[in-house]
Amino acid sequence: MHCNYCDNSAVYHRRISNEYVCKQHFIKTIEKKILKTVRKYRMFSANDKLVVGISGGKDSLVVLYNVLQIQKHRQSRSDIHAILIDEGIKGYREESLAIAEEFCHKWNVPLHIVKFQEEFGATLDECIKNIKNLSVNACTICGTVRRRLLNAKARELGADYLVIGHNLDDQAETLLQNILRNDLTRIIQHPPWGNKKDETGIFIPRVKPLMEIPESEITLYCYYKGFPIQTTPCPYVEPYFILRKNVQTFLNQLEKQSAEIKYNLIRFHENAIKMAFHSNIDEDSYVLTNTSKDLDSNPIHFCRICKEPSGPSRDLCYYCYLKSQLGLDTD
Ligand code: SF4
Ligand SMILES: [Zn+2]
Ligand SMILES: [Zn+2]
Repeated sequence: MHCNYCDNSAVYHRRISNEYVCKQHFIKTIEKKILKTVRKYRMFSANDKLVVGISGGKDSLVVLYNVLQIQKHRQSRSDIHAILIDEGIKGYREESLAIAEEFCHKWNVPLHIVKFQEEFGATLDECIKNIKNLSVNACTICGTVRRRLLNAKARELGADYLVIGHNLDDQAETLLQNILRNDLTRIIQHPPWGNKKDETGIFIPRVKPLMEIPESEITLYCYYKGFPIQTTPCPYVEPYFILRKNVQTFLNQLEKQSAEIKYNLIRFHENAIKMAFHSNIDEDSYVLTNTSKDLDSNPIHFCRICKEPSGPSRDLCYYCYLKSQLGLDTD
């Protein structure tokens, strides 16, 4: 088959749009789609200060590279910074850290490495040794601490937006998992394109420019662009991902029959959020804002130890709770 856009042979068939593309047009169509997503949801504009959360994994390199190109094309005068959270997982983090350092060096992006050990008081490996009596798994600790440190560092750097490399598969799987857990709050609070903006400035809103790109296309894009791909999996991945793994297998099987299945989930999520926020969603910008009225009716509670938001009616945040349960210094 020939490419739909030139005389070269096609290397890829995109079933959802029935497009046949050569290598160059595969790359071009991915980059165009990312740009279209950024524009559609008005994720950020030329002079917004962007901080990209990177792990060294393929999604994070693709999102960083594309955001750099988009802002360069827009002649942005704002620097783009990257943050890598080093959990301290021996035998896993070293490879991705080296990849991230080399990539950021190549593209001239200042990289900030934030370590669990220095901020939380212990590496994830050390936490796991003390986890026995707790009803939490490695990923709960990892996710809680990582989210806190990413937000705090992005805020410290004065970011307008924190860019995250979640792809279409991540978004579809997360939505289905939240439905299966009956977690409506999470569904409404976390739109597929990112987070709510809030007037307090405490939370840096997240944006997800890869939300429309399937994971398989990101892998192929990395291969064609010559981006490095991390080979070592996280040693703690298994127990946490049982539900996710099943959801993933289910969606991948359905996708063989209906190429649009994951996109349908994203559209469903988008429509559900529009219905829930019909009173204060800005239809043109997709920006959801926690207004002072929302904050009055649903005030933020602050943790008595770290002074960060602690969740409804709680005076201790989950980050400090974990710290105390793990026997770490909470001062
Ligand atoms: S699999 Fe779990 S423990 Fe490993 S990096 Fe991901 S969230 Fe952290
Ligand atoms: Zn072509
Ligand atoms: Zn706290």
